[in-house]
Amino acid sequence: MLRTTITMLLSLICGIYAHSAEPSRVQETLTVNEVPELRGYLGERWEANRRGSLHQFDIDRYTKLVEQRTHREWWWAGEQDGKWLESAVLSSANSDPALRAQAKAILDRLIDSQEPSGYLGITPQDIRTAQQPLRGMDPYEDYFRLHALITAYEQWGDEQALTAARRFGDYLLGHIGPGKAEFWPSDLRPPANEKRTLEGFTKIAGHAVHYSWEGTLLIDPMLRLALATGDERYSEWSKWVVGNIDTWSGWDSYSRLDQVASGELGVHELQPYVHSHTFHMNFLGFLRLYEITGDESYLRKVAGAWDDIAARQMYITGSVSVGEHYESGKLRPLTGHVVETCATMSWLQVTQYLLELTGDVKYADAMEKLLWNHVFASQAIDGDCYRYHTPPNGVKPEGFFHGPDCCTSSGHRLVSLLPTFLYGKDDQGLFINQYAASTVEAQLPGDRTIRVRQETNYPESPQIDLTVESAPDSSLAIRLRNPSWCQTPSITLNGKSLSNVTPGSYLTIERVWLSGDVIQASFPMELRWVQSDATWKTVIRTLPGGEIMHDPVPDATGPWALIRGPVVYAADTLWWSNPEVPAPHRVGDDLAFVLHDTSPQQVDTPAGLIGPSYKVPAITSRGQHVDVLLVPFTNIGHWYRDDQRKPDKHAAAWSYAVWLPSHESPEFQERLKLRQQQEQQLASAFDYVRIGNHESETLHQVQGGETGQFRDRSYRHGVDFSYTMKMPTERSAKLIVTYWGSDCGREFDVLANDQVLDTTRLNNSRPGEFFEVAYPLSQELIAGKTNTFGQKEDNITIRFRSRTQQVAGGVFGIRIE
Ligand SMILES: [Zn+2]
Repeated sequence: MLRTTITMLLSLICGIYAHSAEPSRVQETLTVNEVPELRGYLGERWEANRRGSLHQFDIDRYTKLVEQRTHREWWWAGEQDGKWLESAVLSSANSDPALRAQAKAILDRLIDSQEPSGYLGITPQDIRTAQQPLRGMDPYEDYFRLHALITAYEQWGDEQALTAARRFGDYLLGHIGPGKAEFWPSDLRPPANEKRTLEGFTKIAGHAVHYSWEGTLLIDPMLRLALATGDERYSEWSKWVVGNIDTWSGWDSYSRLDQVASGELGVHELQPYVHSHTFHMNFLGFLRLYEITGDESYLRKVAGAWDDIAARQMYITGSVSVGEHYESGKLRPLTGHVVETCATMSWLQVTQYLLELTGDVKYADAMEKLLWNHVFASQAIDGDCYRYHTPPNGVKPEGFFHGPDCCTSSGHRLVSLLPTFLYGKDDQGLFINQYAASTVEAQLPGDRTIRVRQETNYPESPQIDLTVESAPDSSLAIRLRNPSWCQTPSITLNGKSLSNVTPGSYLTIERVWLSGDVIQASFPMELRWVQSDATWKTVIRTLPGGEIMHDPVPDATGPWALIRGPVVYAADTLWWSNPEVPAPHRVGDDLAFVLHDTSPQQVDTPAGLIGPSYKVPAITSRGQHVDVLLVPFTNIGHWYRDDQRKPDKHAAAWSYAVWLPSHESPEFQERLKLRQQQEQQLASAFDYVRIGNHESETLHQVQGGETGQFRDRSYRHGVDFSYTMKMPTERSAKLIVTYWGSDCGREFDVLANDQVLDTTRLNNSRPGEFFEVAYPLSQELIAGKTNTFGQKEDNITIRFRSRTQQVAGGVFGIRIE
């Protein structure tokens, strides 16, 4: 009673809010210092990130952007300094004084560059006015910078970092609020903005297509600032922001989250475009509001959205986002631009926060799935890059050469946060949420510390040994997660079996711990074939602003994947070692599982990979039977063969696939037939090019253009591109080219040795099908010519040249008969 009165008085005097009576957290997050060691696979990936990404990053260039403040373009560029600083602070917490010193120097430079107004960022002062206190893309950039400052304060106790964060927070309070600037996504005001589809850019809320949510995401770091300082002005401001989302968006997209929670609405229906990462960042803010106020309506909205996303839009590998957004139903394309690394990072954070607030094991299970599958699949083996999109089926090294962009830096930030994802704590003790070789040293209230060493090769092995290295002399609880996927978990304490080990729950062991106490857990992992329930075949369309959306192609047979416990497997041609059968060009299309009456056979795992690996029977689209090696999907960031030259940016060197069809599926049977026909045509051709195949295209001296994939086939297109081919020297011949009948607005000349054979126009002429055009090749093209050996010349250059300086092709097949 007395305490309550004092707290109330304090909050009246100092503006410090009292926390709600009921604690709104089940677990507290551990700091990176409390997890001083990561070993094993996670340790390797963490080290690769520190060395390959953080040490190599040109942070000076991006710090100068802040110091010079001359960036006027709408385009984002200012995310890098904040993300790098936060990552470097976290990754140097337990080692690496050089990185720490560099991070401190960058922090000081950023603080020195702060304007007297409190603004800290890359936008010049003359752009920022009372009506427009931020540049269009500022919120994303400020989000990460503000988080970095607060992390520097929390990690290092750096008061200047907190002061800088407060001054920036005050800049937002001073310029955005009632009677000041607001996060309007367009010039429309209610009721004119109701249910209006928007495009283009906004003054302070980023892309209009985000309907204000790109500005409102600032509540997340602002509420973290409120928690760090106890200053309720930041939480009051955030409540005002949240209370206005419906008005600004025109779609009631905040309040209708309640309908998502009750199952009446899908998260994608909240507004015309629901950008995964942006929504996640707002969700983190709503959860902080719940933590601060205890108002369960905030929690209900986010938990409801999480359930909807997990049920419909979450990939088998635990991650989310089609393109960068949420789609209808269970529409989850297998390949192409899906699963953005930024969305992976923020989805993991939302899931962790929900775990900590509710204690529900389902969130820890979801984090496990993501950690052991998608997180490191998006990381290049050297740790020097993260992909933008990491689809379940795809090609490499595509995506491993880019940046710095949003995803490369989300990747290094995500991995820098790794130690904080594994454990939790409360007044009573420790939560073991994830199984990974590591040491935890949790600081508990009352100056108590418990240190536990976790030794395991999990998930390669299902065994985990937890040894208490030191403990206080009072009773403490250690709680272990029993994953819901494991039906036969067993846990022993100092060799004695414990009861009540129930799948999908925490087992609590409470006692006075002695150093040397050992808990052994075993979570046997069953191998299981899973058939996809997703709508994985789609037709792409674009919104007016260029965002790519998908329409379902119904009735496609679901492909299959192999899983073992939380681990998802993939076929990856990097490790193809069958000399008799060449590796398929696109393993997800050109290989099918033979599923009946054989079970996967465990084989040696290639060096440097996480295992175990399996051999399973398969059949190629050329009808060849072969055993295919399946390795955990997490390994696909290995994108070159160690004994060979690294492939260049445009080489489609290797392909991988989580999902393969069954050889009995009608689609694969159709493909077998088609492939046989194509092979027969090629076998009888005088010469042909396998489009998109590096070897074949190089042999035919390809010049210009670029290749891509469409409808399971490769094409080449471009303003002007050519191949050198062979034609018969004693007879006339035909050049036969395959096009896609729905291509539009393409007008180009087809030339042979600089002589125009024909002007071809593609104008949706054969909608929805591939078709061939035959061009006669006369003997006169090579008549009388000889090569350097005095032999009759049989080389001929076939060229495709746009007449409009745009696109010639796409050419899906080319042969000479
Ligand atoms: Zn991104």
